[in-house]
Amino acid sequence: MNTRQAIEWAGTELSGLEDPRLEAELLLAYVLDCDRSRINAYPEQQLNHHEEQRYRVLIRRASRLEPLAYLTGKKEFFGHSFLVNRQVLIPRPETEELVELALQKIEKHGFRRILDVGTGSGAIALSLAAESPAPLTIDAIDKSVMAIKVAGMNRIRIRPAHEDTSVNLIASTLDAFQGNDYDMVVSNPPYIPSAEITALAEGVREYEPHLALDGGTDGLDIYRLLAKRLPTILADGGICLCEVHSPLASETAELFKDSCPGSSVTVHKDLQGRLRIIEISGVRRLLL
Ligand code: GLN
Repeated sequence: MNTRQAIEWAGTELSGLEDPRLEAELLLAYVLDCDRSRINAYPEQQLNHHEEQRYRVLIRRASRLEPLAYLTGKKEFFGHSFLVNRQVLIPRPETEELVELALQKIEKHGFRRILDVGTGSGAIALSLAAESPAPLTIDAIDKSVMAIKVAGMNRIRIRPAHEDTSVNLIASTLDAFQGNDYDMVVSNPPYIPSAEITALAEGVREYEPHLALDGGTDGLDIYRLLAKRLPTILADGGICLCEVHSPLASETAELFKDSCPGSSVTVHKDLQGRLRIIEISGVRRLLL
């Protein structure tokens, strides 16, 4: 089988996908360890037996809607290639906007101590470390030990911009974090209401970890916990930035207003115009 035949065969196998040809090409490029452009430039190139077998297995998995990132084990986020597996959520482009906003805050306010709640692959924490010209101390927590392992592999690949920056990866829930003084708390927590999980796209529902998606009955479990804890973990003048489920943006904002006395809450839209990032500032510090 040559590359042209391989792509044609895969294209029909993947007819249930949104863009079968693209997926077929990307997977073949992955198997042949080359650029996608090369595939079309050399249509007569023969696949050896081993390559053909690997390609067939991957195409079969892709036809069952397994996400490309899990098939290749990698996902591009904020200009860096993150390792991913089914223990972690695949980082999403919307979350890059949270990183962008967080970097602006770091620069504007001279923030240094950051907490990332539910770090997963480490996408947010490691992108901040890689992009901030100023040194940061980042604690990145996740209750999943397996996720922390993935973040650990990414910490080796994605280096901080400043040599004094440290990223501490901790398998823990938020409960262990009280009486701290972080300048900024960032989070992209699970926020899908439990009953809506079944309505998610099949590729998400069947392959991504529910721990990273399911936000409890009303989708707000982690925000509720976070709102309760913010007065004891955020330094004076600190800011919290969280991604939110856009249909629940106003409920999430209300929750923070109610639980964090003195705070002001702003909701930012993403590039698609959806309410996406919630910013909480002016939280009155509660000394323990
Ligand atoms: N913080 C990670 C990300 O944004 C994981 C988020 C999650 O698992 N809910 O990709």
